[in-house]
Amino acid sequence: MSDWTLVIHGGSGALRPGSLPPQQEERALAGLQSALDAGEAILSVGGAALDAVEAAVRVLEDDPAFNAGRGSVLNADGRAELDAAIMDGRGRAAGAVAGLVTTRAPISLARAVMERTPHILLTYAGAESFARETGLEQVDNDWFVTPERRRQLDEVMANGGEFDADIKYGTVGAVACDTHGNVAAATSTGGLTAKRWGRIGDSPLIGAGTYADNRAAAVSATGLGEAFMRAVAAHELAARMRLAGEGLQQALDAVLADIAALGGSGGLIAVSPSGEAAWGFTTPGMYRGRASAEGREVAVYSEAELR
Ligand code: ASP
Repeated sequence: MSDWTLVIHGGSGALRPGSLPPQQEERALAGLQSALDAGEAILSVGGAALDAVEAAVRVLEDDPAFNAGRGSVLNADGRAELDAAIMDGRGRAAGAVAGLVTTRAPISLARAVMERTPHILLTYAGAESFARETGLEQVDNDWFVTPERRRQLDEVMANGGEFDADIKYGTVGAVACDTHGNVAAATSTGGLTAKRWGRIGDSPLIGAGTYADNRAAAVSATGLGEAFMRAVAAHELAARMRLAGEGLQQALDAVLADIAALGGSGGLIAVSPSGEAAWGFTTPGMYRGRASAEGREVAVYSEAELR
C-alpha cells in the first residue's frame, strides 16, 4: 500500500490577484474543493486512480466556472465543441473524444471509448452516436453555453477572431495515484474561444495534453494546445523521468520551459506512482488543487503574483 494523491487543475492564464471578480474566484475555488471531494472519496478508501480522476473531472465539467462541459468556451459558430481524454497508467489503456456537441460528460465517454471499443479517439458525429449507444446523457448544445462565454466570443469576434494573448485557459484535468501505486490522468475542455474548422487541441491527444504510465507519471495539461502538441508535452514529461532519470518536478519544469521556447504558455499537473505530486505554469495563475492523506491545498495565483 502506498499513499494516495490527487492533483487537479481548472485551467491556467492571465489570472492575477484582483483581476477576477471576488465572487468568480470564490466560485472557482469552491468548484475545485468539490472536485477534490469527489476524488478523495474514492482514493481515501482504497479506490482506483482511474475512478478518482473521472469523478473529479465530471464535477468540473458540470461546473460553469470552468472551460469544460457546461461553461465551455464557444467556437466561431457560437457552439460548444468538447474534447476529453482519459488514460490508465496500469497498462496504458486510453480513450478520447473530440468535437462533441451534445454529450454531457465527455470524460465518461472517453472512458467508454477506452473500455468498450478497440479504438482510442472518436470524433464528431461518430463519437456522439457511440455516446447514444452507450446510454450516456445527451443535452442540447445550449445547455453548455453561459452568457459569460457568449460575451467572450463576441469580444474575440469583434477583434477579428484573433486570439487574445491575455487569455484564461479553463480546461480541467485530474491526475491521481491510488493506494495500490497505480496512476491515471483525465483532461476535458471546450478548447479555445472562436476556434474554427473543427480545430482540436492537445487535451484529447494522448501524449500531448494527457498521459499516464505507471513506469513514470500521470500528466494533464492546460494552455495553448498547439504548443503542447508540438512538444508532445505530457509524454515528454514521463519520458524524461523514465529515460533520463529526472525527478517529477524537474521534468515538469523542463517541459514548461520547452513550451515557452516554442512561444506557448500554460501549465501542467503530474503525479508519480510513489505518490509524489507536482504542478507548474508559465502564466500568472492556474486554478489548481491537491489532496492527500496529509491534507489539501487550493490556489489560483503564482507565488510571484502574490508577492
Ligand atoms: N489546452 C486547451 C486547448 O488548446 C485549452 C485550455 O487549456 O484551456 O484546447
